[in-house]
This record gives sequence, C-alpha cells and structure tokens, in this order.
Amino acid sequence: MSSSVQLRHVVLWGIGHTNALVVRAWRDHPIPGSRLICVADASISTYSGMLPGVLAGQYSRQAMQIDLDRLSESAGAEFVPGDLRGIDLDSRVLLFEDRERIEFDVLSIGIGSVPSRSGVVGADDDRIVSIKPMLTFLDRLAIRLIEASNAARVRAVRITIVGGGAGGAEIAFCLPAFVHRILGNVLIERTLIHEGETLVTGSVASTNIRVQRRLEQTGVTMVMGRRVTRVEPGHLILSDGQSVETDLTIWATGAAAPPILARLGLPVDERGFLLTRPTLQVVADRPIFVVGDSGTLIESPTPKAGVHAVRQGPILRENLARLLDGRPLLAYQPQKSFLRLINTGDGRAIGEYRGYTFEGRWCWSLKDWIDRRFMEQFSLNRPSR
Ligand SMILES: Cc1cc2nc3c(=O)[nH]c(=O)nc-3n(C[C@H](O)[C@H](O)[C@H](O)COP(=O)(O)OP(=O)(O)OC[C@H]3O[C@@H](n4cnc5c(N)ncnc54)[C@H](O)[C@@H]3O)c2cc1C
Repeated sequence: MSSSVQLRHVVLWGIGHTNALVVRAWRDHPIPGSRLICVADASISTYSGMLPGVLAGQYSRQAMQIDLDRLSESAGAEFVPGDLRGIDLDSRVLLFEDRERIEFDVLSIGIGSVPSRSGVVGADDDRIVSIKPMLTFLDRLAIRLIEASNAARVRAVRITIVGGGAGGAEIAFCLPAFVHRILGNVLIERTLIHEGETLVTGSVASTNIRVQRRLEQTGVTMVMGRRVTRVEPGHLILSDGQSVETDLTIWATGAAAPPILARLGLPVDERGFLLTRPTLQVVADRPIFVVGDSGTLIESPTPKAGVHAVRQGPILRENLARLLDGRPLLAYQPQKSFLRLINTGDGRAIGEYRGYTFEGRWCWSLKDWIDRRFMEQFSLNRPSR
C-alpha cells in the first residue's frame, strides 16, 4: 500500500477569506501526514474589501482576485472545482452533482453568505444585479448598464442600490466611475433604499450620520426606514406602497445563509447559518468547522464581516491540526470593536474605531494599505519556502 493512502484528508469547502488563509499557511507549514483538498465553485475567489475600489477605478479587477488553482498548487494542495450536493456526515464524505465523492477526516466550511431576499416578491428577477456571486458582479453590472442606458435614451439612467450596510454604501459612493467607464459621459441618478432608520448597521450614530451626509452630498437620494417588498419591471414597490422607478437595481442587502447550509443535517440558527462552538467546530459532534459568514458562534454571534473571517484564519489552521491529533481546540475570541473603513470613492474614506468616527485621505491610505497587505499574502510571485 502506498503511503499516500494513509494521508488524512483535510478538506476546505469554499475558499473565501478564512479558508484561503489556511491554504496560504499550508505553503509554509503543511499539517504533517495530511493532504489538503480545496473545493470551490469557481477557480477565482474575490476579495470584497477591494470591490468598491475596483468600481471606483482605484484597482484593477485582478487586484481583488485570488487564483485558487495556482494558490492550491503552490501549497501542494488539490484544487477541486465542483458543485456540492450534500454531505454524508456518518461516512464523512462530500457528495457532488458532477464528480466523484471526496472523503474527509476534517472539513472546514466557508462558502460565505448571499444577499437576503426574504419577503421580497420578484427578487429573483434576473434583471436585478445581485452583489453575489461577486466574481461575476462587474460583468453582470456592465451588461445591465448598457441595457439600461438604451432604455433610458435621453434622460438620466436611474440606478437603485438596495441595502445600506457598509457594502451598499460603498457601492453607492464608488459606482459613478464604473458607469462612466462603461457608458461614457451619461447622466445618472442614484437612489439608495435601506430598511433601517440609519445606515451601516452596527456602527455608531456619528458614523451613520457622516456616511448619509456624504452620500447625499454626492447626489444620492436616500430612502430610509422602508423596505422593498416587490420587484416589478422598471419599479420597486416599498413597504409603505410607494413605487420607485428604476432602470437598474443593485441588490446589496444584508447577509442571508446560502440555502444548502440548512440541508446539511447540521444545527443552524434562525437565519440558516451553521451554529458553531467558540472553537469554530459545529455544535454537533462532527469533525467539521464552519468559518466566516457561513457560521454563527452560538455563544457570541458576531456581525457577518470579513474582519472576523480573516481573524479566524490562524485559529482554524491550528484547530484543524489539533482535531486530527486529538488535542484540545483553541477558542476564537471575537473582538467587540474593530476598525471599519468605508471607501467614499474619491481618495478618502470614513473610519470608525471604538466609537469614534473620522474621515480623510489618510483613512483611504490606511484602508488601501490594509487591503493590499491582505492580498499580497496570496501573491504567487515570491518563492513560497
Ligand atoms: C461590497 C462589499 C464590501 C465589503 N467590505 C467589507 C469590508 O471592508 N470589511 C469587512 O469586514 N467586511 C466587508 N464586507 C463583508 C465581507 O465581504 C464578508 O463578511 C466576507 O466576504 C465573508 O468572508 P467568507 O470567507 O465567509 O465568504 P466569502 O468571502 O464570500 O467567500 C466564500 C467563498 O466560497 C465560494 N462559494 C460560495 N458558494 C459555494 C459553494 N456552494 N461551493 C463552493 N464554493 C462556494 C465563493 O465563491 C467564495 O469564494 C463587504 C461585503 C460587500 C458585499
């Protein structure tokens, strides 16, 4: 029997922020006696922190992309593109629609989240440009922009962004540059619809106010405290019955669970995210971790944010090894306060830390430095060992 038969299978499903960091760490420190297998729905993973900057023309599209095939290869891991159908928990096997099953000794699930569409009639209309899958967002947006401008002809193109979290606000700020790159010097009208009374849920009031004021200063019409309940051709119907005319709608609502998570036979929270212990292991007694947006820490749920997904990376790497060796697992301790930086698309950013709000060019420089540093880890130009 060859030695490879005895290798333990460490399988990562969904190579977003956390799992990508495990692959990166594997390049220098593989878990002895183990084989790493990366299962993903696409060969490129997109770093959301830079997407608004790509819209604004501050980065190339490649700057926000991680080539998973090459990253896996650089780590000596196997990359498996595939459409997962389910998991046989007792046999520890991943089942696919389109390929052979994969056995695992330990599994990490990190397939992220999707924008919520619950309670919205017609939200699956394919004319809506959903922020996810992020890999195809720019292409879908460009196609819809051209269609919308043809329909608008002589008047301004009316673009509506649904969802006023940090992502939706950044898109509203950064969108004009992208529109002008695609359509030339057209007139656009931007409207942002947000069901909450304040923007950027989870932020302090001074941040909410500053983000809203800056959006209004850049010409965005704000519709607050009402939700979209129905999508109709050319219109969005709001919870108070008002109709908002739109040529193009971008769907950037808060995180909902990918439906497959609730079908795995593992405990989920009320939104369908998988419940985990502080160690990131599922609450059921299985050799499975859940990281990033896909998981909810049962004792200390955190907002669905890339910051947490990134910080979970080193803990996950260590716990994968510990679980295989039967050693006690480490707990992930989420920080209550984290630095938030919102790209306003004009070489500035609005920041918040520990209840303080600030703004300026230096905030953008800081955000740029943080995001570039994160992505540099996945640069494959440097020797790995
Ligand atoms: C525009 C925007 C800007 C944002 N900016 C920030 C920010 O500045 N700071 C911050 O903290 N948070 C930010 N967020 C939130 C942040 O994007 C998420 O919290 C973060 O992406 C979660 O990381 P993740 O690894 O769980 O998921 P993701 O980064 O979404 O990664 C999941 C991966 O799994 C893959 N996948 C999905 N489904 C499957 C499947 N069925 N099979 C296999 N693979 C699958 C996806 O292709 C993807 O590569 C932003 C969100 C948006 C929309």
